[in-house]
Amino acid sequence: MNRGDARVEPGGTLGVLGGGQLGRMFGIAARQMGYRFAVYSDDLGGPASQIADMAVQGAYDDEEAVAAFARGVDAVSFEFENVPAVAGEAAARHTLVRPDGSLLHTVQDRTREKRGLVSLGLPVVPFHAIASAADLEAARERIPGAGVLKTSSFGYDGKGQARVGDGAELAAAWSQLGEVPCVLEELVPFEEEVSVIVARGVGGDVAIFEPFANEHTNHILDVTVCPAALEPSVAQEVERIARAVVEGFDVIGVVCVELFRLGDGTILVNEIAPRPHNSGHLTIDAHSCSQFEQQVRAVAGLPLGSSERVGPPAAMSNLLGDLWSNGTPDFAAALAVPEVSLHLYGKAEPRPGRKMGHITATAPTVEQAAVRVRAARAALTGE
Ligand code: AMP
Repeated sequence: MNRGDARVEPGGTLGVLGGGQLGRMFGIAARQMGYRFAVYSDDLGGPASQIADMAVQGAYDDEEAVAAFARGVDAVSFEFENVPAVAGEAAARHTLVRPDGSLLHTVQDRTREKRGLVSLGLPVVPFHAIASAADLEAARERIPGAGVLKTSSFGYDGKGQARVGDGAELAAAWSQLGEVPCVLEELVPFEEEVSVIVARGVGGDVAIFEPFANEHTNHILDVTVCPAALEPSVAQEVERIARAVVEGFDVIGVVCVELFRLGDGTILVNEIAPRPHNSGHLTIDAHSCSQFEQQVRAVAGLPLGSSERVGPPAAMSNLLGDLWSNGTPDFAAALAVPEVSLHLYGKAEPRPGRKMGHITATAPTVEQAAVRVRAARAALTGE
């Protein structure tokens, strides 16, 4: 039941596989538009199920339980990409699944994802797949300089990755990653990490948000600003790539394309996420239709909204559990900073490195928005 332009009218039920903050913000957008919201997750009581009309706990590989969930909703999306393919297939036998399982299958394996991007003629970081020890030498020949070794599956926020220098290091790093299938990528001397969020509706309409510039700390997104300061020709290339991804993979839904911008303006695709993305959270406060509303519209088969920014430039900062290490953060101090909004995900345990929420700030310039969002975050701990 994946094809066609079937529509779920407001009042119907939209379901999500996955119980985290992306599901929660999808649910908030869905409820705003009058939908009922249902969550299937292996962890009841998490961010998404707290705001759901219906929450079901079950394993993602329990096909019967997923099928029963799917029978009770009008359409299903997912909010993290490691949902096993069987869950998508089980759901698709009973309801609309958007985006369909084929994109999930593609991105669940970095090698498959990169080959898919190459087949669309898109520029990716030079890479070589490693499936066995016999591939190590050829990988070194293809990527002779410094590289990043990444497990093909189940990596996120820098997990399952190792930087490598010479040949001996590669073998040691591969062994440390458990000799599982990996890709060796060239270590890219990028100047900036950029992302672009793009939605595609059932009628083939495409809405592309202006690109975001992202700064990471310890491999976790720290601060995003919007818009990224790109030369017009570079911005055009980013837009071309975003459109080619959703059209090439025939996506109905929202995709984030993560990119590296090199000093000479070259853009390379790092990876794609078949869902809204952390870097797009500021669209809730700064854009006329957020990435989550676009997801609701796409999943429900409605026309997409405008991806225009309606206000001034914006910045977003993640709030990690570390900010709770000396007790409850000083939210009042953060909210005393002008043009700041607070989003918390309802997670009970603030562990270090855990995404507990985010802050968005707007300001007349991107630089001022970034200063504001950092000031608000610092105020949380009295800095
Ligand atoms: P990923 O999980 O692939 O998004 O990687 C996490 C982060 O590691 C990226 O956001 C980059 O900061 C860095 N990184 C990943 N791949 C490369 C690469 N090939 N060259 C340089 N830095 C990289």
